[in-house]
Amino acid sequence: MVDMLLDEQVFEVLKGVDDPELTDVSVYDLGMVHAVSVNEADVHVTMVPTFAGCPALHIIEKHVQEAVEELDWVESCSVEFAFDVLWTTEMINERGRQQLKKLGIAPPPKDFVEGEEWTVECPYCESDYTSIENIFGPTACRSIVYCKSCRNPFEAMKPVLEQEIAR
Ligand SMILES: [Zn+2]
Repeated sequence: MVDMLLDEQVFEVLKGVDDPELTDVSVYDLGMVHAVSVNEADVHVTMVPTFAGCPALHIIEKHVQEAVEELDWVESCSVEFAFDVLWTTEMINERGRQQLKKLGIAPPPKDFVEGEEWTVECPYCESDYTSIENIFGPTACRSIVYCKSCRNPFEAMKPVLEQEIAR
């Protein structure tokens, strides 16, 4: 990583920091990294919180800080959540979508239109012959869906296009 720009090195590190609730899905893949600024040995990372209901923000903050401070040249890293930037499920990158499927979680649909019915593709057999069993699911971010083709229950990440800004 020696020949990379300092901020690129920070981005590389962030690609390895997983969401505490999603194994092998990094905060970078989820689209949570808003900006990185480097001032000599001090790094400042601005992040976008995902679903406002997810209570893992300070764990993420700690993990990001610890990971960035592992870089030799970094003395301190501060992490800030930008509550005025709205995260949407469209910010999840392709790797993030693939990793979610591996966990048996259907990624949010790409072509979702607010207010319209949303079809969920089964992460196991890719059938869209599915039915939403429980819109609330185990966390505020996910729903329980049942696949009528392969008969597996799975979780689906809810599409989020806009959400209320937390103040
Ligand atoms: Zn299926």
